[in-house]
Amino acid sequence: MESARDKQPYVVGVDLGGTKILAGVFDAKLACVGRSRLSTKPHRGAASVIERIARSVRDAIDECDLDLRQVQAIGVGAPGSVNPEKGEIVFSPNLPGWENIPLQKALTKLLDRPVRVENDCNVCTLGVYHAELKAKPRHMVGIFLGTGVGGGLILDGKLFSGFNRTAGEIGHMVLEVGGAKCGCGNRGCFEALAGRAALFRRLASAVKDGRKTVLTDMLGPDLKNLRSGDLRKALKRGDKLVERIVEEAAEYTGIAVANVINLLNPEVVVLGGGLIQQLEEEMMAIIVETAQDYAMTGTWKGVEIVASELGDDAGITGAAVLAQGALA
Ligand SMILES: [Zn+2]
Repeated sequence: MESARDKQPYVVGVDLGGTKILAGVFDAKLACVGRSRLSTKPHRGAASVIERIARSVRDAIDECDLDLRQVQAIGVGAPGSVNPEKGEIVFSPNLPGWENIPLQKALTKLLDRPVRVENDCNVCTLGVYHAELKAKPRHMVGIFLGTGVGGGLILDGKLFSGFNRTAGEIGHMVLEVGGAKCGCGNRGCFEALAGRAALFRRLASAVKDGRKTVLTDMLGPDLKNLRSGDLRKALKRGDKLVERIVEEAAEYTGIAVANVINLLNPEVVVLGGGLIQQLEEEMMAIIVETAQDYAMTGTWKGVEIVASELGDDAGITGAAVLAQGALA
């Protein structure tokens, strides 16, 4: 006999990153019922990565004793420039050699299910909006601090992608003219000032200049295998260097949030990503205070600035929302 479980419209959300692929099976209420994790191994080339995505989808489905036939659609959040209409990855700095890769077509062929593809930060924003915010605001901005800094915009209840589908690139908003060099070629971008890679670079160069930090006791003089969690441990031990660098990153983030509030006046700005997940306690108060200082009088009233609780799950959850959209 067919059970209620068999009739559930399950979807799979995939978070494709430069180092790992996460997949989650979600029920109609966006509860995750099964998941999998696989390394990306981008050096093996696009075809291999696409096969690994398909494998991660199958693994997640197997994990919760379902069958691929019970899955209605698959959503994928991918890093870089994505054309969601064509389902193509146009270009991705995190996936070397990926140019105009027809990910949607290739995955549909491998899994025989409808597939939707979107930029990863847009997908995370969708995840936060649909799974986390109870009162659905009309306008929301998501800002994600990980290795780099990305963002996504919900305007009038819909994902806003702009003319060339590149809207939301908040990480490359210039906050300091002539500031630190950014991966995009510019200087002083938000990402070059407050992304994890930027923080780690600044710590490494401070250590080279002879500054003292407990991080060298923890990890050795070259700060090998430094992670966001180590920054939190160093802060708990009262490390002044780490404290100053994290404070600065939070201040820059607050200024970026103020710019966003001045420009778009959303009801909610949600901060997420690995860095916020690890350092929420240390960063959020400074972010909110700085944003209040810099936002224009009158734009600020009633605007909420909150940290996402979805953490690493924002990507798979948002990709599941994307997949649900494919069914509409
Ligand atoms: Zn940049």
